[in-house]
Amino acid sequence: MAFRILTLLLPAALLLMGAFLLLALVPALSAAQQNTLALMPYLMAGIAGFLGYCFKHSRVLLVSINLCAAYFLIQNNLQSSLARPDNYVLYSFLSLLLPVNIALIATYAERGVFTPIGVIRLVVVSAGYLAIYILKEMGVLGYWLTELPISLIQMAVDETYLSEAAAMVFVVALIPVVLSLIFRRTHTDAGLLASLIAALVTLLWFERPLISSLFLSAALIALAVSVVQNSYNMAFVDELTGIFGRRALRDKFANLGRRYTVAMLDIDHFKKFNDTYGHETGDHVLRMVAAKINNVKGGGKAYRYGGEEFAVVFAGKTEDEVLPYLEEVREIIAYYPMAIRSEERPTDSDTGKQLRSNQKRPEHVQVTISIGVAEKDDSHSNPDAVMKSADQALYAAKKAGRNCTIGSHQPISVPRRVQLRRAKVDFVNREG
Ligand code: GH3
Ligand code: MG
Ligand code: MG
Repeated sequence: MAFRILTLLLPAALLLMGAFLLLALVPALSAAQQNTLALMPYLMAGIAGFLGYCFKHSRVLLVSINLCAAYFLIQNNLQSSLARPDNYVLYSFLSLLLPVNIALIATYAERGVFTPIGVIRLVVVSAGYLAIYILKEMGVLGYWLTELPISLIQMAVDETYLSEAAAMVFVVALIPVVLSLIFRRTHTDAGLLASLIAALVTLLWFERPLISSLFLSAALIALAVSVVQNSYNMAFVDELTGIFGRRALRDKFANLGRRYTVAMLDIDHFKKFNDTYGHETGDHVLRMVAAKINNVKGGGKAYRYGGEEFAVVFAGKTEDEVLPYLEEVREIIAYYPMAIRSEERPTDSDTGKQLRSNQKRPEHVQVTISIGVAEKDDSHSNPDAVMKSADQALYAAKKAGRNCTIGSHQPISVPRRVQLRRAKVDFVNREG
């Protein structure tokens, strides 16, 4: 899980680091270059917002509007000293609004933009900025300085303008953003965390030239990238198991060299498993099996081909070279006791009831897979032909009694197989 979160955060982290490095170069930039940089957040907000809208990632659209509105206020109303009362009050409101909005957006479920709830969210995100803008234009903000609570006047960090209240709000806002990242694990959540960090850095070192342009641009680029990455995942990653799907396998097939080996892996008696334990438990097992297959060594790339079938492609390897790696995966799965929680058992199926009354212990079921392997040789004109040979070997593995690996070069009479230990609960043996 931690690795997945780190990979999600990588583009945002690189972009924020880039902004940090560019900050040192700002004084060396010409006026024209600085002006261009100042326009970047608008351009990036336009791109990220448009992508969010087109790909139905409403949270990306909302946070782009949020950052863009804040940037507009900074550019148009906060280019003179914060020592001015009206500027300081405006800055104080911004330092609360930005994190609150990002935290709110983190809690939203993805919904259509022009649905009633979508419109309400749009209004919620924009209303605060609109109100501040109008109040600033009316010239009343300066008079509110004396009304501000002490926590908005007292600074949290020396030599910055970030008040204690704002710092507290940022810390609290971090909670929903981080929780959303941990539980949803989407690229959008990484973009939201980048936005929160960019907002914090901007407000902390507010008087550094072009800091808002650089950091808000970085966050908005991270958001735009997140939409592209989400779309890539939708197309290439299988939703149920989280490993690559059939489209990614086609992509791999189009980019293979002259030597490669394809393995087809299929869960044994899975239909019976579903009938006994229910489809939901079946899905749970499918995810576990996929995770084990995905950990195959020897440079194998795993794909969910469809249903309970998987493919592993080894580029640059022969059948003999990959057999030990596949055997290892098969054994790991065969000896892995998959825990089935009792509430996962079907309540309405007769088989389920029967099983429940027969067996009181917490259940550990065992699942096995059969594997067929084929390498590219002169008899195959393309990867599909190799896959067909692997499929035939898989069929032979099923006929040979399942829970074994058969290579298309191997004599069918000697399947590689490890007998399951009798002491363990063997779903296949018990049921079959
Ligand atoms: P064999 O050992 O010969 O492979 O038998 P099998 O029962 O595994 O093979 P069969 O092709 O007859 O059945 C495949 C079953 O896989 C049918 C379906 O119930 C199950 N299945 C396919 N996709 C999914 C899925 O996404 N989730 C769940 N829970 N089950 C699935
Ligand atoms: Mg099967
Ligand atoms: Mg099958």
